[in-house]
Amino acid sequence: LRELPGDPESGPRLRQVDAAWSRVRPTPVAAPELLAYSRELAAELGLTEADVHDPGFAQVFAGNALLPGMDPYAGNYGGHQFGHWAGQLGDGRAITLGETVLAEGGRRELQLKGAGLTPYSRSADGRAVLRSSIREFLCSEAMHHLGIPTTRALSLVGTGEKVVRDMFYDGHPQAEPGAIVCRVAPSFLRFGHFELPSSRGNVDLLRRLADFCIHRDFPHLLGGRASQPLDELQARGAFTEALYGEWFSEICERTARLVAGWMRVGFVHGVLNTDNMSILGLTIDYGPYGWIDDYDPDWTPNTTDAQGRRYRFGWQPRVAHWNLGQLAHALSPLFAGVEMLQAGLDRHAAAFAEAERDNVARKLGLAECRDDDLALMQRLQALMQAAQADMTLLFRTLADIEPAQPSVDALREAFYDEGLRRAHEPAFAAWLRDYAGRLALDPLHADERRARMHAANPKYVLRNYLAQQAIDRAEAGDPSGITDLLEVMRHPYGEQPGREAFAARRPEWARSRAGCSML
Ligand code: AMP
Ligand code: MG
Ligand code: MG
Repeated sequence: LRELPGDPESGPRLRQVDAAWSRVRPTPVAAPELLAYSRELAAELGLTEADVHDPGFAQVFAGNALLPGMDPYAGNYGGHQFGHWAGQLGDGRAITLGETVLAEGGRRELQLKGAGLTPYSRSADGRAVLRSSIREFLCSEAMHHLGIPTTRALSLVGTGEKVVRDMFYDGHPQAEPGAIVCRVAPSFLRFGHFELPSSRGNVDLLRRLADFCIHRDFPHLLGGRASQPLDELQARGAFTEALYGEWFSEICERTARLVAGWMRVGFVHGVLNTDNMSILGLTIDYGPYGWIDDYDPDWTPNTTDAQGRRYRFGWQPRVAHWNLGQLAHALSPLFAGVEMLQAGLDRHAAAFAEAERDNVARKLGLAECRDDDLALMQRLQALMQAAQADMTLLFRTLADIEPAQPSVDALREAFYDEGLRRAHEPAFAAWLRDYAGRLALDPLHADERRARMHAANPKYVLRNYLAQQAIDRAEAGDPSGITDLLEVMRHPYGEQPGREAFAARRPEWARSRAGCSML
């Protein structure tokens, strides 16, 4: 990390910092209390159960104490929000403690979110509330277990302090419990880290950051030279335009696979801005995200996006493409022409189309996706939307269809409205006949098909109301609902006897379409 110019002298709240990062200490909190943790991740980081339950753990992961070798810093990035350049944005409340080398190789950065002011906090407080921290903790781990690239969450620590938020944007701020999540990833670099120096014409910093990122996070692109020190590689001219082109192309491809993963399971990020796009193609920044219940490609959990609906489910592929276009623009000073950047963007479109076909094949239980199958899937989606059928339940129960005698009854659980179900029953029956006809042409055995569908269509997803129930209990003093829910989300594709309630349709009382506050 030291290859980057720092800004150790800077105090909090600098508005313009022409550096990639700044040293900053987390601000201690009153009464750290461990509320939940991820045991797989703890084990991966070499932490034992005893380590986690040692009172020192909560102290470190609340920002009250540092372990030897930790040298905390905040990164500096900008971004495009709602389609417009927003300037310098963060990290206003995330502080990286350091990085650790895993026993099986690879590195992980440990970052506290909500650890207090940084030089980039602008007018905000650097803190996070319990409810949004629970949401980030649970969804990071749920996403990991779904097999979709994501930043992880090691721990959730209550701070024993209050944070003031205007939750309903109604001018009546309330004091809420505060918390800190320790998130973990090989890198927290975002598109916005590259956009910021580029926007300021600081090509030298842009280039050094790109070289650093390739050397640390994309070492395979350097082949056998990856183990050489960065400055030597730079001096020898290893970072050529062709290498930058390969790097950008890989970012584009990873982003395509990421978004295809979201589309497969019904996840809506909710703030798909360039400051929330990971250079590694990880899901990052769990804010007002949501999960699709009844299928609606126009749904967004982001209540601040009422008009433009830029952040709706069905728009994620094109918004990701637009964001990659902004990254291409930011990286353009590293290229003599636009050809390689355009090739990367084309790679994104092609990789997404490929991944979408893969989604269709897996979700419908077909050995391969033929051109007609895309239309078959679109017809099903249109039907689900018209009949307000639950996306997760519909695909899950589709595996139970008997091709010889396809019956709409098998799908009954997926419907929210009996009248709509009955109205669309003939159309579903017609679709099922065509689907059964297609299955007859497919080489997969019934058992294989079912297994393939179950591995692509989760039974358990972090429905908005489930997270809210865990939040309500935690705010009332009982954090055990967080761990209970995490346990369920550890096996999203499995059958979990006795836990079927967690796979149920959204109950009527939870119908409100609003997501949780993004603060
Ligand atoms: P978001 O829209 O959640 O991605 O946030 C945009 C930027 O605002 C982030 O990069 C943060 O650095 C900053 N931010 C959000 N909330 C806070 C806060 N409570 N204190 C300081 N900075 C914040
Ligand atoms: Mg953000
Ligand atoms: Mg956020």
